[in-house]
Amino acid sequence: MKPKTSIEGLAVYQPGKNPEDVMEELGLKHIIKLSSNENPYGCSSQVFTALQDMKDQFHLYPDGASLKLKEKLAEHLEVDSRRLIVGNGSDEIIQMVCRAYLEPGAEAVIADLSFSRYETGIQIEGATPIKVPLKEGTHDLEAMLQAITDQTRIVFVCNPNNPTGTIVRESELSAFLDQIPEHVLVVLDEAYYEYVMDSSYPDSISLLDYNPQILILRTFSKIYGLASLRVGYGITHPEVIESLERVREPFNVNALGQAAAIAALEDQSFVTYCRYQNRRGIEKITNKLEELGLKYFPAHGNFIFFDTGIPAEEAFQFLLHRGLIIRAGFGETVLRATVGKEDENQQLVEALEALI
Ligand code: PMP
Repeated sequence: MKPKTSIEGLAVYQPGKNPEDVMEELGLKHIIKLSSNENPYGCSSQVFTALQDMKDQFHLYPDGASLKLKEKLAEHLEVDSRRLIVGNGSDEIIQMVCRAYLEPGAEAVIADLSFSRYETGIQIEGATPIKVPLKEGTHDLEAMLQAITDQTRIVFVCNPNNPTGTIVRESELSAFLDQIPEHVLVVLDEAYYEYVMDSSYPDSISLLDYNPQILILRTFSKIYGLASLRVGYGITHPEVIESLERVREPFNVNALGQAAAIAALEDQSFVTYCRYQNRRGIEKITNKLEELGLKYFPAHGNFIFFDTGIPAEEAFQFLLHRGLIIRAGFGETVLRATVGKEDENQQLVEALEALI
């Protein structure tokens, strides 16, 4: 048996540390998980009612077209529902776009450092990732344009960028899109869209009218707090939708996820609350980073990327032994921490103070 050549070099995905395992291993009574950019406030309570109402439908296949959810999204986003695709998390839409647009010999441009699933998706199709270094923590759009060749099919722009948290501004993005050749699709990954409070952040949906080559990705896993139910969506042109629909699994989004996402969309006050709480958390943590003289990038999502000057694995272990799971593995001395609830952020800043 021989699997296809393109997957030979791929590593098996390693999820972050499981809190129960860490508690047992280190004999801790309490663990704070700030490693996966989840919403510490959970989800809207309206989701619980919607899920209760689903309890007599577990034996039925879900609506394969996610019609009701698409209608709700269309109304919320003020877009035609024919411009929408729903996925089993936005992870699945990343996979679908790679499946639909890439093949051996094709290239896709990504930023180095950015969300790791782009590179995996590209490699699975036997295509070549072209990595362009970040500039001050964000996408170097000029250099990304220059990396485009006749073989390029996709450019991934993660905005805000995971893991650095930085954003590409509307003026920069518009100028970039104006120069994108016709054979290239730009995937704008806006998984953290709802957290952004900066007025220069692009209104990407309005850019769709002038640029038929954009696919915007958003998710219910972050501010809506539904990561376990796996619902993400894409907004793009009907022509791109058609290509994605060709490679989509028939029942890709489960019924509970669809029902939960509809209920979550109806509770925008929960979203507003989480956005403000998150901003307060960012201020608290960045104030402490400044006080300690540590470098960090402006944080526009629900996480902060900072440099402790200490080997990342060492700093990670120090925090882990104090009951905090954050994320290392991005570079020599840098770490990423998700913004938690007030008391969790307090514990994080105290631990950082002890570390430095
Ligand atoms: N894009 C980015 C930038 C992310 O950070 C994540 C989650 N970590 C995803 C996509 C995937 O999210 P999901 O599949 O849960 O929608």
